[in-house]
Amino acid sequence: MEVRDKLYIDGAWVPSTGKGAIEVFDSNTEEVIGSIPEGTAEDADKAVAAAARAFEDWSAVSHEERSKLLARAAEGLGARTDEIAETVSKEVGMPLSLAKIIQVGLPTGVFAEMAGKVNDFEWEREVGNSLIVREPIGVVGAITPWNYPLYQIALKVAPALAAGCTVVLKPSEVAPLNAFALADVLHDVGFPPGVFNLVTGFGNVVGEAIAGHPKVDMVSFTGSTRAGKRVMALAAESVKKVALELGGKSANIILEDADLDAAIPAGMFACYLNSGQTCSALTRMVVPRSRLAEVEEKAKAAAESFVPGNSLEATTNLGPLASAIQRDRVRGYIEKGISEGAKLVTGGVEAPEGLEKGYFVRPTVFSEVTRDMTIAQEEIFGPVLSILPYDTEEEAIAIANDSIYGLAGGVWSADKSHAEQVARRIRTGQVDINGGAFNPAAPFGGYKQSGIGRERGEFGFEEFLETKSLQR
Ligand code: NDP
Repeated sequence: MEVRDKLYIDGAWVPSTGKGAIEVFDSNTEEVIGSIPEGTAEDADKAVAAAARAFEDWSAVSHEERSKLLARAAEGLGARTDEIAETVSKEVGMPLSLAKIIQVGLPTGVFAEMAGKVNDFEWEREVGNSLIVREPIGVVGAITPWNYPLYQIALKVAPALAAGCTVVLKPSEVAPLNAFALADVLHDVGFPPGVFNLVTGFGNVVGEAIAGHPKVDMVSFTGSTRAGKRVMALAAESVKKVALELGGKSANIILEDADLDAAIPAGMFACYLNSGQTCSALTRMVVPRSRLAEVEEKAKAAAESFVPGNSLEATTNLGPLASAIQRDRVRGYIEKGISEGAKLVTGGVEAPEGLEKGYFVRPTVFSEVTRDMTIAQEEIFGPVLSILPYDTEEEAIAIANDSIYGLAGGVWSADKSHAEQVARRIRTGQVDINGGAFNPAAPFGGYKQSGIGRERGEFGFEEFLETKSLQR
């Protein structure tokens, strides 16, 4: 049981001005594994004031010094890999071996990458008689979700600190313990007081206090489109910059000539990773009607190779969902798919056998899904694949683009250049061709209602910079 009863504000662990505590659950067992303070708007205000005070000095700290601190933060996180991975695995449900790589390895890499970016970035350049100077944007409010909790924090905090910004972080209360570990690390390696602050609590209280705070210069949010819209509306009051990384309903187009033995298992993995709790999950498989029967058979076999179980057990390749709310929401979508007439290929609403306790959902595949069905349009955030058949390539592209979202996608073909042409016509921020490998430095973000701005690599770093021109 990990009890964290203080917030990290102005370089010190301090009690909340409120009395509440929020429990943290093990998604495998439904047992309480920790608790955190239920922060208040007053706590958020104190943290913003500390960040605003610290900004002038921190933004003037040399690039070399900033880089050194970020590199030490990466080392500090790396040293705590096993402990953080186990906690996140319990909170979120990702199998432990993957959690080590994805939930801790990736964020550690982001801190290391940003340590390098401070040094190799072109901070100034000349355009005619002007000197163009890049400067930190100021105080950054970071509001993050629970599905890749430390990674989503790192994608905001590391580039913001590298840019010379100060930060107030509000993590999700569903998977918050890793944020406390990060605060410990940043404190221990010597970030000055006020540069990084952590205020936990509920989104509608602490999140809204940050998003609407006049002294916050930028709010960077990852989560649902619903909450993102609210954040944007609150931020508009003080015309602060907004970066939003929101939901998705990404399509994976399997072209006529694709190798189904490669495409279908890879597509299932891209849908089921982290029990489907991934904003860029490829949840709509768009397949030629002529090959539908073959696809269904292979998708069923691939889905059934995902065996739900306790995320800490070495044999588990599909853990539970992060919370009871998410489990119930996902089961609700499965019911909806059945009632709207989709063909249930495998899975269903019942708990997986022997797993009545824990937030488990059966790996589920629907076929003969049509564009108007709820399971073709809404983000489900669980291990549920929708297969949509098409008759022509034009129709496949139209299906892919028939979404309010525009985050990710996939195209499979024996002809790579043809696949690339199709990928260019998909209105999303990323497309993987024939299962193209994950690139942590490639910009990530959404078209349409999937968001505003980009995270990762140089593009993600530049989001935290202002641009000034000096005419000479
Ligand atoms: P939310 O969008 O509610 O949560 C994300 C973060 O936003 C949390 O820190 C949350 O705080 C905070 N938040 C919530 N409401 C507000 C608000 N009004 N102002 C400021 N901050 C706020 O996601 P849910 O956990 O409710 O998940 C619901 C669905 O959202 C999922 O099923 C999935 O479809 C989608 N989602 C998408 C994600 C993505 O990666 N794009 C990530 C997570 C969810 P709190 O601690 O109170 O939850």
